Amino acid sequence: MPTTPGSRTTSQRKKKRSTKSHGLDTSQKRRFQTRLLRWYKKFGRDLPWRKTSDPYHILVSEVMLQQTQVDRVIPKYHEFLDRYPSLEELAGAPVSDVKKTWYPLGYNIRPERLHSIACETMERYGGRLPSAAAELLSFKGIGRYTAGAIRSFAFNEDAPILDTNVIRVLHRVFLAKGDPKTQKPQLWQLSESLIPRGKGYDFNQAIMDFGATCCTARTPSCRQCPMKSFCKTYPFDLKSRRATERYEGR
Ligand code: SF4
Repeated sequence: MPTTPGSRTTSQRKKKRSTKSHGLDTSQKRRFQTRLLRWYKKFGRDLPWRKTSDPYHILVSEVMLQQTQVDRVIPKYHEFLDRYPSLEELAGAPVSDVKKTWYPLGYNIRPERLHSIACETMERYGGRLPSAAAELLSFKGIGRYTAGAIRSFAFNEDAPILDTNVIRVLHRVFLAKGDPKTQKPQLWQLSESLIPRGKGYDFNQAIMDFGATCCTARTPSCRQCPMKSFCKTYPFDLKSRRATERYEGR
């Protein structure tokens, strides 16, 4: 059927609607973004590191949250920042004292790394953490996730993140097959392509909260979930649970 300029055939309209970005259908992407942000507005957690945009505070919270539950991190986060209120004061403290303050969080490599990041920031950047990904990644102890968290939570950039919660959510909703450990490049791409422009901060906080409180590892709240109409894992069953346990090592 001939078309006049400005008009589109049904197949052209369908093609436009299903434009894909990083293998993701555009309408599906929008639906996920909208529902996630709406969910976050209602159920997002009130956490102390969401009341600051100080890169140092964000760094401390992110390092503490690695392999540690939020409830255990909150009091230690306050105590640590009372004791070392700036990167300069942290850099000037003996590592042994920093480790004592860190106790009983465990994984003592973390306070050591934090201390070395503080020293390096003093030497190379005059005490201010940089915002560029390449510079952040050049620090020992700052990996791709932490760099993304600092960029989005402290510098308001649309930088992707991928931690255990984000992996679980993205894998369940969009992939449902395969081992997430070997699908990291695809999951990073998904994480990046899903961020609505200019909303990296909220989107990243939202997806982490969603994984921590709704799409949990063992007992996700599928019935109340805003994604259930298009989630590839819905309804979550024993097979899905075993898959999660396998890749999350639970
Ligand atoms: S429907 Fe269930 S498995 Fe899917 S995202 Fe929601 S909570 Fe997670």
